[in-house]
Amino acid sequence: MIPGPTMVNSRVLRVLSKPTLSHVSPAFVDIFDEAIGNLKKIFMTKGDVLIICGSGTLAVEMAVANIVEPGDKVLVVINGLFGERFAEICARHKAAVTRLNVDWGKVVDPERISEELVKDDYEALFVVHVDTSTGATNKIREIGDITKHSDTLFVVDTVCSLGGMEVRVDDWNIDICAAGSQKAIAVPPGLALLAVSEKALKKCEGRSEPVDFYYGDFQNWIPVMKAPRKYFATPAVNMVYALDESLKMILTEGLENRFRRHEAIAKSFRAAVKSMGLDLVPDETVAANTLTVVRYPNGVNDADFRGVMAEEFKVIVAGGLGPLKGKCFRVGHMGNVSVTDITATIGAIEMTLQKLGYHVKPGTGLESAEEVFMENSNLI
Ligand SMILES: *Cc1c(COP(=O)(O)O)cnc(C)c1O
Repeated sequence: MIPGPTMVNSRVLRVLSKPTLSHVSPAFVDIFDEAIGNLKKIFMTKGDVLIICGSGTLAVEMAVANIVEPGDKVLVVINGLFGERFAEICARHKAAVTRLNVDWGKVVDPERISEELVKDDYEALFVVHVDTSTGATNKIREIGDITKHSDTLFVVDTVCSLGGMEVRVDDWNIDICAAGSQKAIAVPPGLALLAVSEKALKKCEGRSEPVDFYYGDFQNWIPVMKAPRKYFATPAVNMVYALDESLKMILTEGLENRFRRHEAIAKSFRAAVKSMGLDLVPDETVAANTLTVVRYPNGVNDADFRGVMAEEFKVIVAGGLGPLKGKCFRVGHMGNVSVTDITATIGAIEMTLQKLGYHVKPGTGLESAEEVFMENSNLI
């Protein structure tokens, strides 16, 4: 139950073991083409998408490297570890970085972005949709309305939301959207996924120097994505099978149904932990539907809690990151996670807390979760 890699369906695991075809064979080209077409539906874009061998961080770094030139002014929203990373990556690519710091667990007020963007000529704005260190969801749609009429490019890290929460690349005016395969897309780790707008490509074409990252240069990859029989660098053939299979399963479930399933599971999990007297790290109004970050009550030790959860109940949850290390645990409920997976997790949390001396009446969390499920049974 960690926030990635997530559980992979056996249908997806099975296609990984199919023979590795030539990357330019018609049979593979068909599969690659289908995956690219379906990925556009997941990103909700008519623009270009990219499927590249690497993890989510590669997608994020490609986004930065392709548009940032040395000395470019960029604005980075930092409300968690992955916002911090965005700023680090921008600095590595020699951008002049302005950091818009927000308390961890809170989200940036779009008003603050409006105010900041008029102060300077920013080439790009970088925002993490769901920061996996806090479980808070930035207001991407509202922010996109602000950057829409400016020259500033809007770059969003949706590694922890794409496929589980609404992300509308075209409608929300996202110029580059970065994601990975192993979270709500429910494929093993190994693929970086991107959507790139025309506005972003124009900026790339107008660069004074070539992109300082040969493997990650959009100009090298976009011809391949338009005609997958072309070669630039060998695609991860079996991983593309896996992605293709999972995207088909996602579209069969239906994106809207999938978002509602994630919502119902997230709501019931939040209700359960609150009824046990535990606090969430993010403000509840902005809590993500793909993972929940929960503060430990006084007296409950991180290593003990996760140890008992894993050893006695076989439920793996993640620890806190950065300044939240040791103070919270993180539960991923995205991708293939079902109602029964989350109720089993809630039961395990109740029993673990009791074993560690924290008083919780048996069934408290489960009762709250069930109530929410029954009210939202139309969602699943
Ligand atoms: C997981 C994650 C990343 C990094 O992805 P990797 O696949 O681990 O490289 C970046 N941003 C967010 C929001 C994430 O959740």
